[in-house]
Amino acid sequence: MKSTLPVLPEGPSALDPSVVCPPCGKCCRYVAVGIDEPSSVKRVSTALWMVYHKGVSIFESHDGDWFMVVAADCENLQPNGFCGVYQNRPLICREYDVDGCEGTSSEPAEKLKFEDAASFVRWLATQRTALYLKCVERGVIPETLRPTLTRRKPRSVAS
Ligand code: SF4
Ligand code: SF4
Repeated sequence: MKSTLPVLPEGPSALDPSVVCPPCGKCCRYVAVGIDEPSSVKRVSTALWMVYHKGVSIFESHDGDWFMVVAADCENLQPNGFCGVYQNRPLICREYDVDGCEGTSSEPAEKLKFEDAASFVRWLATQRTALYLKCVERGVIPETLRPTLTRRKPRSVAS
């Protein structure tokens, strides 16, 4: 997913215009941490535990990597969108690629995103049904979250 690099805005002279991006600050308003893909009962249970917490989401990137994300503004984010510790910002901020980021791309950064347990379980039940049923069998999915699964009608043979 490539995007055209935006025109750089005027900014404080301390900033290096060759590396600074438009200061929308969208990437400074959350913390995302890599997690295991929910591909086993234990991993589903852990992912579910995460989204049981208000304000915690999980998502899958377009590259197939899974993350836990918590919305939280960085204390260094300035009202004009610039970084208050730009010269000494964390390495992870320096490495973040403006090309295709949420501030410059029209496409959502995530392939899949779940902000609550119900939407995650619904996806699991419909898209990973065998694993979902195993999770139900192991007792890690409360009844209140279990959607009704509709079975496909068998194809009738034309007489
Ligand atoms: S340290 Fe600066 S660049 Fe990094 S998240 Fe905070 S405001 Fe953004
Ligand atoms: S989301 Fe992109 S454009 Fe916005 S501040 Fe972060 S890197 Fe820059």
